[in-house]
Amino acid sequence: MKRRDFLRASGVVTAGFAVGGCAPVFGRTNPSPRRRVSLAPVNVSRDRIIRTTVGLRPHRDSGFVVRADKLDEKLLIHNYGHGGAGYSLSWGTAFLATECALAGTERRAAVIGCGISGLTTARQLQRHGFDVTIYAMALPPDTTSNMAWAAFTPVSGLIANDRRTPEWDDQFRRAVVIAYREHQLLVGSGHGVSWIDEYSPINSNASNSGRVIGAGEITGPPLIPDSVGMGRTMLGPGEHPFATTYASVLPVLRFEPSIYLEALMRDVIAFGGRIVVRKFDTPRDLAALPEPTVVNCTGLGSATLFGDQELVPVKGQLVVLVPQAEVNYTAAGMMPRGDGIVLGHVNQRGNASLDVDEAARDRVLNNAIAFFATMKRDFA
Ligand SMILES: Cc1cc2nc3c(=O)[nH]c(=O)nc-3n(C[C@H](O)[C@H](O)[C@H](O)COP(=O)(O)OP(=O)(O)OC[C@H]3O[C@@H](n4cnc5c(N)ncnc54)[C@H](O)[C@@H]3O)c2cc1C
Repeated sequence: MKRRDFLRASGVVTAGFAVGGCAPVFGRTNPSPRRRVSLAPVNVSRDRIIRTTVGLRPHRDSGFVVRADKLDEKLLIHNYGHGGAGYSLSWGTAFLATECALAGTERRAAVIGCGISGLTTARQLQRHGFDVTIYAMALPPDTTSNMAWAAFTPVSGLIANDRRTPEWDDQFRRAVVIAYREHQLLVGSGHGVSWIDEYSPINSNASNSGRVIGAGEITGPPLIPDSVGMGRTMLGPGEHPFATTYASVLPVLRFEPSIYLEALMRDVIAFGGRIVVRKFDTPRDLAALPEPTVVNCTGLGSATLFGDQELVPVKGQLVVLVPQAEVNYTAAGMMPRGDGIVLGHVNQRGNASLDVDEAARDRVLNNAIAFFATMKRDFA
């Protein structure tokens, strides 16, 4: 099917409510089946907030780094800088990093970092015969990865269009195909990976075909291979409970960080790995490790540890409400999880503060109150 930028063409409601930096990213439209969906509204109010979390996305304008280097006699492999797409690409860039490691002769590896990148890299290395030790100064639940919205958003906040290169595009395409498949295979395995319907309320169905890709973030040669993504369904008037005329539906992969990261740590240990709490101040400290191969998965930590000046924090903040088991869809920047109803999005480039931005929290809360107040409650 010929694909187009669906969001711009169809006028999906973005302002204030839905699809921010970590938005649903792609899909194809399907012919509209006649159906009527009933969705439980979210109870949004200030007194239902149970926590507000802050995390710093590790962004680089030229995209993530996966490459091999040398550190004295050691093979040093970098795998960091995934911006708002660290979950989405994790298993894929972990595989690319493992390919670099396989080029060496040794099969003992130190992985530095215990976020989603470090954990999936450790598992990919183990699958390929490596004896792995993870070293990290912070473990889940205290990593950036724990603070993520965490849906499959492979181009979110990832790269500046004018910094794309054919080589990086190739790495990305390989990574996204691998990661998409790996995540599908984890569904139902107790890792906190599942499919959920993402609804985008819209006022026009002018374009009923085409592709949604990163909310218009990415321009230039197509980046998402055809094998990644699936069909979008359009709902017409009377078929959905939103205040808009239409709503589109797209199944998306959702990750529950507190379940996923713990499960991956258990997997690493079950396959003979070790996890050691340790901070490294300079690359010299790494050179003293016993493992001949070192994989750097320190995310934003690579700015100080390896002096990567291109890394910039993009502050994100999530407001979490009391869980509602009956809410089984995502819409308008709301994602339900076992540990709470999560509201986003905040994207503040260059802001390295881990303090809660109260104005941003109020804005997110008020947008959600306004949105869910307009949902038809007796719609069935
Ligand atoms: C609000 C928000 C929403 C997001 N939403 C999504 C989304 O929907 N989809 C998606 O794919 N991604 C999303 N992301 C992005 C994703 O969370 C990140 O890309 C990802 O978590 C980065 O993982 P990481 O393992 O590279 O880094 P981290 O999780 O930061 O882990 C780094 C590890 O390295 C360790 N470390 C760092 N420096 C040192 C050092 N000097 N010595 C020892 N250890 C060190 C840390 O302690 C930690 O263990 C979101 C992020 C935020 C903040």
